[in-house]
Amino acid sequence: IVNVRDVHKKFGENEVLRGVSFEIERGQVVAIIGQSGSGKSTALRCMDHLETINSGSISVCGHELGTGTVNLRELRKDVGIVFQSYNLFPHLTVLQNIMLALKHVRKLSREECSRKAQYVLEKVGLAEKAESYPEQLSGGQQQRVAIARSLAMEPKVMLFDEVTSALDPQLTGEVLRVIEDLAKGGMTMVLVTHEMSFARRIADKVIYMYQGMVWETGGPEILTNPQTRELQEFIGTGL
Ligand code: ATP
Ligand code: MG
Repeated sequence: IVNVRDVHKKFGENEVLRGVSFEIERGQVVAIIGQSGSGKSTALRCMDHLETINSGSISVCGHELGTGTVNLRELRKDVGIVFQSYNLFPHLTVLQNIMLALKHVRKLSREECSRKAQYVLEKVGLAEKAESYPEQLSGGQQQRVAIARSLAMEPKVMLFDEVTSALDPQLTGEVLRVIEDLAKGGMTMVLVTHEMSFARRIADKVIYMYQGMVWETGGPEILTNPQTRELQEFIGTGL
């Protein structure tokens, strides 16, 4: 469902991705880990065409994100992305935040949008917060709304970039539970995460990035039994 081949990405003279390749199959949960600055977010952003690549190829749900043109509206239907910051509109209720995105991308009727929005709110355990405003919610609840908003589009692949790193441990738990439910439901997901124990538990595949390269990859067992010195050290630091 995702195929990343020999991707190079530069910001000015700084080559941030240096020949990154990996594949993701339908239904897989993939965790991307690595030091700060190793290119994890950039790799994720390239998969949603928020960054363009300099060379190589990326295919996501049949969309070719190379150097040619990309139909962003069609891509956004298939790929959902959630960031550390929730980016909810403060002047709209939770339900309206979700409906707005739906109306914009999916072009559905008001009733249909409202029904779908209610449904995804239930999925993240926030049905009773539909009429609340973002500022009335905890960070964890806001993040779950952001996930619901993404889910409402019925994406084929979800990308998560350190969605819990701004949250305290209890709120982190709530958000991770939602992600774990999605995994059990068969959603294809890529998680950039610092939560090693979570990665070990739910990932089918772990990608360790180091200096813009895929340094080590394998099943979750590489987290307990790393083969490279770099990954050993990374895990040793407790990060
Ligand atoms: P972190 O764990 O801190 O989030 P990361 O692995 O996600 O790190 P990236 O955000 O992908 O790392 O950044 C990789 C490198 O690319 C860094 O050196 C960063 O400074 C650089 N970089 C990222 N975005 C830009 C940008 N928009 N313009 C210039 N340089 C950038
Ligand atoms: Mg990052």
